[in-house]
Formats: sequence, structure tokens, C-alpha cells
Amino acid sequence: MARQLPLLINGEFVASQTGTWIPVTNPATQEVLCEAPAATGQEMEQAIAAAKTAFQSWKEVPVSERARLILRYQALLKEHQDDIAEILSQETGKTFEDAKGDVWRGIEVAEQAANIASLMMGETVENVARSIDSHSWTQPLGVCAGITPFNFPAMIPLWMFPLAIAAGNTFVLKPSEQDPMTPNRLAELFLEAGAAPGLLQVVHGGKEQVDTLLTHPDIKAVSFVGSVPVGQHVYRTATEHLKRAQCFAGAKNHMVIMPDANKDQVISSLVGASCGAAGQRCMAISVAVFVGDAKQWIDELKEQFAGIRPGAWNDPDAAYGPQISPQAKQRVLTLIKQGKEEGATCLLDGSDCTVDGLPDGNWVGPTLFTDVTPDMSIYREEIFGPVLCCVCVDSLDEALALVNSSPYGNGTSIFTASGAAARKYQHEVEVGQVGINVPIPVPLPFFSFTGWKGSFYGDQHAYGKQAVRFYTETKTVTSRWFDADIPASGPNMSIHL
Ligand code: NAD
Repeated sequence: MARQLPLLINGEFVASQTGTWIPVTNPATQEVLCEAPAATGQEMEQAIAAAKTAFQSWKEVPVSERARLILRYQALLKEHQDDIAEILSQETGKTFEDAKGDVWRGIEVAEQAANIASLMMGETVENVARSIDSHSWTQPLGVCAGITPFNFPAMIPLWMFPLAIAAGNTFVLKPSEQDPMTPNRLAELFLEAGAAPGLLQVVHGGKEQVDTLLTHPDIKAVSFVGSVPVGQHVYRTATEHLKRAQCFAGAKNHMVIMPDANKDQVISSLVGASCGAAGQRCMAISVAVFVGDAKQWIDELKEQFAGIRPGAWNDPDAAYGPQISPQAKQRVLTLIKQGKEEGATCLLDGSDCTVDGLPDGNWVGPTLFTDVTPDMSIYREEIFGPVLCCVCVDSLDEALALVNSSPYGNGTSIFTASGAAARKYQHEVEVGQVGINVPIPVPLPFFSFTGWKGSFYGDQHAYGKQAVRFYTETKTVTSRWFDADIPASGPNMSIHL
């Protein structure tokens, strides 16, 4: 029988009493690595209640002590980054190097969370009226919840709970049921760092468990990362239940290639940014927009696409791993088929990809389409596979109009040697994260992760100062101290101070 993954409730890893177990598989082999429980209603209640109780004492812990917990946690994460990455590789199929990147980008957010005191500083103004001063405090909200996707099982939980907890909240994490072993390992290390019982709970499951978090009166704020339909459901349900919500959703990211760009940089950036992690990144480049003569480079791009192949996580020659599930693979294959049927030219088709010795893996080979138009399914849908669509336009204005007409706005990049073109693009493009000769411009944690339009529902974004605002309330105090020698004035009947 496969190992059954425990839940983390009130500082203890506990065996679930559920009758529903979700198999967690290695996507390169279909081997069942463990089973994750669909937490029962009672276990969900216990998790939320433990977080609520722990909040009462945690909010009184001095900010420097809270920061020190995160510092210890950051050191443990660094010490164990290879073993976390190995677990992560097995359940996601990511190559070991890429898995280490997933862990590292999360560690960087924990590093930022250790700086919580300065991030929580309020504002002061002296003499807002005669002898009256104002200052603001930043106070935690209470119990916050995080719902995370399969594609970054270390980084995305680490976007959420270290900052929320450092800010004085307690947390309930519901990670993806497709790769829950990595989040459990992150939680083990959090306990090892000295986290008090109840600061972090990890519950497993799917829609039912998510809906409990979205509707429960004791959850004050919800952070979600995942697909568009689920993101919309989470945003609507959480806000209808009068909670704060920040929901990061799907994407279709364009890279604009000007004819004056460095050709070799363009080609290698396109290969890595579209096929890395088997295209299963919300910041993957899925559309290449060639401006003018830049389209002459498509043949060379095809050669480089043909030179990479997927493989097992510990195969040093593998460029990327499998799709997360047979269903995800089938979805990519269906979209490739539709692309051909709708009239795009498939220069390289990865539909029949095999990997020696691993016949059961969810493999898709690198796939390159050209003659793609905006009405085609492969242009409109987030494919989430190693598939790049090439579109050719005549001018930068035409490229901008195309990118700005996309319903998504997560990331984009422009490759050019012209400062004027780059300046125009960064200013006019309606996308929240822009790279200039940088294909995947994910901001570091002292900024925030700022997707726009259909890629994000909410207002305060993930990590950085915006996340601290998301996880806190501002309290503004206006104060006056009476001098015993000054006689009291009569009642003030107007709103003038
Ligand atoms: P998903 O939406 O299927 O699942 C995300 C989470 O929601 C999981 O924890 C899952 O259990 C839960 N869930 C699934 N169906 C649900 C339902 N009907 N009701 C309530 N909860 C439900 O997403 P995924 O396939 O795990 O992740 C891939 C998606 O995430 C892609 O669309 C990708 O672009 C997106 N993503 C976005 C960002 C970003 O920052 N914008 C980052 C990473 C991933």
C-alpha cells in the first residue's frame, strides 16, 4: 500500500480519517509515490480552529521574534534545498536543476519575510492640527488561507505563508493535490525552525476543501494561484463571503522580437522560455511575435527546438520533464491537433514523443507552430506545454496592438537593440511584468509579482510590500495630550479640529 500523506494540524502531522485518498504519481513513470487525503469536514474545522487559537498569542509576539523564526526557517530551507528539490523532481517530473530553481525562488521570498519589521512600518505626521499628531500601525488580519497550483510546489507556498506569518497572521495552506509531498516537507522544516503549534496548517484535497476555506467565517484573506476558471471561482466566492482575495491565474505571454535584436540571444531565450519546465510555467513564453525581417530566424529557431528533448528528472541531458498528468498531456496533444486543423503550420510536432526506458511518461516533444493567427485555439488558449506559436507582424505598433488585445497580462518581453523601441514597449504595453532582453521577467521579492488583466483578480499582489499590505490592516491613531495648565475648551460642534 502506498504511503499515506499526513495533514498538519496544530503542530502535529496527523493521519487523516478520510475515506478518499488521491494518488500522487511520478509523471515520468506513473509510479504511485504516495496518497494524499481529501481532508474531512471535521479536519478542516480543526485546522481552522487551531489557526484561530494560535493567532491570539502569535499576534502578541514581538516583530523581531517573528522575524527570527523566519530567519531560522530560511537557513533550514537553504540547508535542505537539494533534498526538497529531489522530492519536488519526483512528484512534478521537473529536472533537478529546475527543481532547485523552484526551491530557491521560494527561499528568496522567505529571506524577504525575515525583513518584516521594516516592511510593517507605518507612517507618522506631527501637528496634523494644533498639538495633535497622527500615526498609523500595521496589524495582522487573523487566519489567512493559501491555495496553490501544481507547477511550483515550493516557490508558490513560500510566496504566501512565511510573509503572512511574519506579519503576525496564522495560516492554512491547501496545496495542489498533484504534488503535495513538497509542501509537507516545507512544513516539516517550518516546525523544525521552531514554529509554534497552529501557526501553519497544511490540509489536502481539492474543490471541497477549497470551498470550505472560501466560505468559512474565520478565514480573513485568501491567496490563490492556479487556472483562470478556478481563479475566478475563488475570487467570486471569497469576496462574496466578504474576504480579501488575491488570485493569480493563467497567462499567454508574448515575446516581441525586433529585427535589430541579438539573434543568438533571441533564439536561445525562446527555446528556454517556451519549453523549460515542459511549458508549465505561468510566465512561459507561448507566443513569439516576429517584427519585420526578424521572421527569417524562424528556421534557425526550429533547428534549436529540434535539438532538445525531455527526460527523467535525474537525466543530465534532459532539457525538461513530462507533463504533470496523462490528462494534461492529452490536453496539449488536442490543442496541437486543433492548431493543425485550424490552418497553422506545424514546423515541429512533439505529439509522438518517447523517452528511452520510460514508456509510460507524459512526454510531449518541443512543438513549433508558425502562421498562427489570433482566432486559432492555440493562440487563444493557455496550452501549458512545450509549444511555441510564431506570429509575424510588420511593425512594433502592430505587435503592441496584438499583445494589448490579449485578455491576459501576466508577462511579456521585447528583444531589441533600440532604447527607443524598448521604452515605447515598456510604456505602452498593458502587461504587468515586462522584460527588456529578459525573456521571463519574474520580479525578485523586494518587488511584487504584478500580473494584470485576466491573469490576476484583486489589487494587492504577491510578495514584496504589496503582500504585506494584503496580509495586514492599517490602524490610524490621532492623539492629543492635554497640558494641565491649559483650561478645557467648550464642546466643539463642528468637524474642524
Ligand atoms: P488549478 O486551477 O487546476 O488548481 C489550483 C488549485 O485550485 C489547486 O490547489 C486545486 O486543488 C484547486 N482547485 C482545482 N479545481 C478547483 C475547483 N473547481 N474549485 C476550487 N478549487 C479547485 O491549477 P493548476 O493546474 O494546478 O496550475 C496551473 C495553472 O496555474 C495555470 O493556468 C497557470 O498559468 C496558473 N499559474 C498562475 C501563476 C500566476 O502567478 N499567475 C503562477 C503559477 C501558475
